[in-house]
Amino acid sequence: KELPADPILENSRRQVSEACFSFVTPKIPSNPSLIHVSPEMLNNLGLTKEDSETKDFLNLVTGAEIFPNTKPYAMCYAGHQFGNWAGQLGDGRAINLAEIEHKNKHWALQLKGAGETPYSRSADGLAVLRSSIREYLCSEAMFHLGVPTTRALSLSLSGDQVLRDVMYNGNPDYEKGAIVARVSPSFLRFGSYQIFPSRGDVDTLKTLVDFTINTHYSHLGKPSKAVYIAFMKEVATRSLDMVIHWQRVGFVHGVMNTDNMSILGLTIDYGPYGWLEGYDHGWTPNTTDNTHKRYSYGSQMQITHWNLFQLANAIYPLVEDAEPFETILNDFPKEAETAYRDMMRSKLGLKVEIESDGELIEELEKVLHTSETDMTIFFRNLANLKTSEYQEWWSIISNAFYKPNEINGDIKDSWKHWFSNYGKRLAKEQSTDQERKLEMNSINPKYVLRNYMAQLAIDDADKGDYKLIEEFFNLLKKPYDEQPTSEKWFSKRPEWARNKVGCSM
Ligand code: AMP
Ligand code: MG
Ligand code: MG
Repeated sequence: KELPADPILENSRRQVSEACFSFVTPKIPSNPSLIHVSPEMLNNLGLTKEDSETKDFLNLVTGAEIFPNTKPYAMCYAGHQFGNWAGQLGDGRAINLAEIEHKNKHWALQLKGAGETPYSRSADGLAVLRSSIREYLCSEAMFHLGVPTTRALSLSLSGDQVLRDVMYNGNPDYEKGAIVARVSPSFLRFGSYQIFPSRGDVDTLKTLVDFTINTHYSHLGKPSKAVYIAFMKEVATRSLDMVIHWQRVGFVHGVMNTDNMSILGLTIDYGPYGWLEGYDHGWTPNTTDNTHKRYSYGSQMQITHWNLFQLANAIYPLVEDAEPFETILNDFPKEAETAYRDMMRSKLGLKVEIESDGELIEELEKVLHTSETDMTIFFRNLANLKTSEYQEWWSIISNAFYKPNEINGDIKDSWKHWFSNYGKRLAKEQSTDQERKLEMNSINPKYVLRNYMAQLAIDDADKGDYKLIEEFFNLLKKPYDEQPTSEKWFSKRPEWARNKVGCSM
């Protein structure tokens, strides 16, 4: 389509019924420019670096032009936000451009921050540079960490000004508008299914579930009642697997509403997410969630369970038999517990299975909470411990403590106690210290996108300096490798950055 459609007819805000999406036209950016492109994602789409330097590419990933014979659309979905039913939400600022097939893989290409849609409600459909940098860097970093995630192709400026805050002198605080081109096999969410039964529309629900199975879960067979149940089970398993990875690397999503839960078990919608610095189950990066801490690090699996319950409710009308869903949901906590223990054992370098490992892990969690301990540094350094020299633990991990001077008395004794148990436990392993270290270093990342690192990249980018974006993008491609020239990013959050986390909007 060459001409932009009538924005009143196409993009006007409304309740959309009996439809999974609405055709929309991206807003034409006033002065688009590219900031960064992911070479890995380019390659996945069958594009070259040269392609990415063309005007056509820039126009595509900023919504300046619509690719011939495509019809961009925004998806209709609902969701539970912070536990409350919110009704229709939908892609308020995301627009799917097209699907790309390359090497037998399907990718949906979506612009985030490309203007209003029928689902924009009271907001502007735009995204600011800071949140776009955060999504761009983190989604690619998560991929390289081995965490199931949506991807990012590019980060661009729109050239437009976006208003998010008003300063206390009453002046508007304009920010640079940005657009991330995101990529995923699908952007369908739990909320995409929830919306139809909430309106009594089982026909469209069935159309969408059947489409999902035929397109993304075809290995389960042709849609039938048994396949709907198998589908539910697999979504549960994939979601569980995703959250175990989050726990492993210390990622806190921050807004696990049902509209932010991918039907493919991928990390989606990077908003106010954050990375654990001090190990703390109660920590959440989401400042609007500070009282209830619904989406804190230690709650992510329980919330996943709650969200799966909502998904099961949504697709129930296709099966009309509660029992199989109940079984899936009832089995979930036990499966989650086992998966969690296995994951923690792998972080500790334990391969031999011993009954009491659960207690060792619980004791460690307790001790970690007594002392503000940097999660990433702790587990990475732990691999340096020698089995026969476990009494030397202080010199190995003291660097992970934010306040090493406060580690004394009872607190120090509890650390000593844990390390003596751990040392004895390591003695039962068959591998050498060196082998264990290699294993542990492939599970415990050395480099993650610490909250203050993203902030540094944002501050520079605001001034037009994108060197840190490039540096972090490359650093985080090899999060498990030693990168001697980047040692400074393997360090605790500086004191100025305490309680500073990014922003979602
Ligand atoms: P989130 O909490 O980011 O997942 O967003 C929840 C809902 O708000 C989704 O339907 C988004 O599309 C919508 N939304 C968030 N920010 C904007 C915006 N700037 N303009 C329009 N819709 C938005
Ligand atoms: Mg969302
Ligand atoms: Mg968002």
